[in-house]
Amino acid sequence: MASKKSIGIGVAAVAAAGAGVAAIAAKNYKKAGKNAEKKLEQKAVSAETNEYRNTERGKDAKNSKGIYYTNGNYEAFARPKKPEGVEEKNAYIVGSGLAALAAACFLVRDGQMPGSHIHILEAMDIAGGACDGIYDATRGYVMRGGREMENHFECLWDLFHSIPSIETPGVSVLDEYYWLNKEDPNYSLCRATEKRGQDAHTDGKFNLSQKGCMEIMKLFMMKDEDLYDKTIEDVFDEEVFDSTFWLYWRTMFAFENWHSALEMKLYFQRFIHHIGGLPDFSALKFTKYNQYESLILPMQKYLEEAGVDFRFNTEVTNVIFEIKDNKKVAKAIECKVKGVEQGITLTENDLVFVTNGSCTEGTIYGDQNHAPNGDAEVRTSGCWSLWKNIAKQDEAFGHPEKFCSDVTKTNWESATVTTLDDKILPYIKNICKRDPKSGKVVTGGIVTCQDSGWLMSWTINRQGQFKDQDKDKVCVWVYGLFTDVPGDFVKKPMKECTGKEITEEWLYHLGVPTEQIPELAENSAVCVPTMMPYITAFFMPRTKGDRPDVIPDGCVNFAFLGQFAETPRDTVFTTEYSVRTAMEAVYGLLGVDRGVPEVWGSVYDIRELLDSTVKLMDGKSPLEIRLPGPLNALKKPLLRVVKGTVVEKVLKDHDVIKEGMLF
Ligand SMILES: Cc1cc2nc3c(=O)[nH]c(=O)nc-3n(C[C@H](O)[C@H](O)[C@H](O)COP(=O)(O)OP(=O)(O)OC[C@H]3O[C@@H](n4cnc5c(N)ncnc54)[C@H](O)[C@@H]3O)c2cc1C
Repeated sequence: MASKKSIGIGVAAVAAAGAGVAAIAAKNYKKAGKNAEKKLEQKAVSAETNEYRNTERGKDAKNSKGIYYTNGNYEAFARPKKPEGVEEKNAYIVGSGLAALAAACFLVRDGQMPGSHIHILEAMDIAGGACDGIYDATRGYVMRGGREMENHFECLWDLFHSIPSIETPGVSVLDEYYWLNKEDPNYSLCRATEKRGQDAHTDGKFNLSQKGCMEIMKLFMMKDEDLYDKTIEDVFDEEVFDSTFWLYWRTMFAFENWHSALEMKLYFQRFIHHIGGLPDFSALKFTKYNQYESLILPMQKYLEEAGVDFRFNTEVTNVIFEIKDNKKVAKAIECKVKGVEQGITLTENDLVFVTNGSCTEGTIYGDQNHAPNGDAEVRTSGCWSLWKNIAKQDEAFGHPEKFCSDVTKTNWESATVTTLDDKILPYIKNICKRDPKSGKVVTGGIVTCQDSGWLMSWTINRQGQFKDQDKDKVCVWVYGLFTDVPGDFVKKPMKECTGKEITEEWLYHLGVPTEQIPELAENSAVCVPTMMPYITAFFMPRTKGDRPDVIPDGCVNFAFLGQFAETPRDTVFTTEYSVRTAMEAVYGLLGVDRGVPEVWGSVYDIRELLDSTVKLMDGKSPLEIRLPGPLNALKKPLLRVVKGTVVEKVLKDHDVIKEGMLF
């Protein structure tokens, strides 16, 4: 890798410099006295622009889905007026995950719908869906995941600034989170290990070759439609796959090589402002506890206080539509309440919101002595069959089978290891260089055991991760991207391992002497494995129409929510995506007159583009490398032209032009 690392190309930076130069060059060309040509040009322009009028009217007009996108403080602080007719309306929300609860919160806060008119229909006996974190008396602590979050989750923070904290009176969930992450910022001191617990010294580098950088930049520039149904393997080769960049990327976001190239591109664009924060996770922020306690419970309390009707053990099996001349009206909900079939008839005043698909559907729970297979407990909500039943009724309702038909490509497994005494802690401290019991940031994001067969990563968030957690115990989250290959100590695939065996494999990669491993795994920890067959279902390659729009064309009282509904520019496997779809669905169907915050626009910010280009090349400026063909000869003239202009200043500010560069 070292041999490839030093030369890269910054298309964005070159493009930026090129744009400035082109503008100035054009000016000089005209000065050169081509007057006749200029007059002709002016005539053509005035003919073309005769009908043109400058105005901002219509800028905030609603689109065909009944919403408009916005940004900035003006709309962020504005409160919408009560939508007309809301008192006569009811809402039926299928699911009680983050998306569904967010939809209910937006109905209450922005739609000003009476809480008693909002009905949440949930198959399970608990709210939260994928956002979990629970103490299970028979198994131990269970967290199927931990949520990496960031400051530009625009819709999520729009919501949580109004949800009261359940710990501190008078403050919001956002206040709590903001203060915590200010006082105790997240960053990692060891991103990856090798050779059983030794620092792999990735040292904040991406180690991408020039060709690897070019492959990433090429993807960055591609149109969505050119990436339909393409896999990441179709756009990258070993130049990217062998780099440290790919190690960070796939373990942090759980991308596999066969996943969607389109989603990969959207991620790169969406998080371009965080490229520099990927290697040490300084881009990330975390909640105080697991996200069930830190996010779901405050929302649930807010909704219960508003009088919202929660109906658990209610599995929705179908929504029946009347479709005429492209007008689509949801007419009935079919469901099973504690196994008994029931129906709810609907009018156009009954709004239906369905969470279609779930990454944690069909989770299989193991325990310390049982692998998550065979007769292990499986928890299902019926989400795929519900979406399939809806999709049968109209093409606009998407293609669920695209996402849920191949679990060999969509599964991975996580496990919660809880330490029972202090014997394992020195090995942890040795790697993360922090005290796991300090209550502050510990690993600061995942640590990847880069030479492990399972491609294992583990993390310890601030302890206690559970409000009532015993202060002497430490909860560790472990996951493996490859569940069907043998481990390095336990010669079995992860999916066939008991909790104890997973702890053994983890201890091996921590560097615990092999003769002590079985004893420590048996007596010093308890581990609960959770196999998630559909955890990356939303990363499967897709084309237009596979995911239905949040409000499918023609729907007057129906919307989709969550990770399998289509909204432009945002990226799945995020809490933000669920909240965004909820906001769009509620604003669009109910006619809430307030802008939806657009996906953070860093991809259109020249400063971020320049910055990320230099960072991707581990600090090298595009001007320091040999550019292909005649482009190299353009460097000097370009620099001469920008000298003394704002372009030069911007390029200097972002390390494209460096002190002492001689051309
Ligand atoms: C392991 C893991 C790691 C993650 N990491 C991150 C991260 O780092 N950063 C981040 O931002 N996000 C992360 N996420 C993603 C985030 O947690 C989810 O995207 C989000 O919580 C999904 O919420 P949802 O409401 O859209 O869907 P879900 O939470 O899946 O909710 C769907 C709900 O609908 C119910 N339901 C489904 N069908 C029916 C039916 N037919 N009838 C009745 N009820 C039904 C289900 O029971 C469930 O409660 C992670 C998730 C997991 C599991």
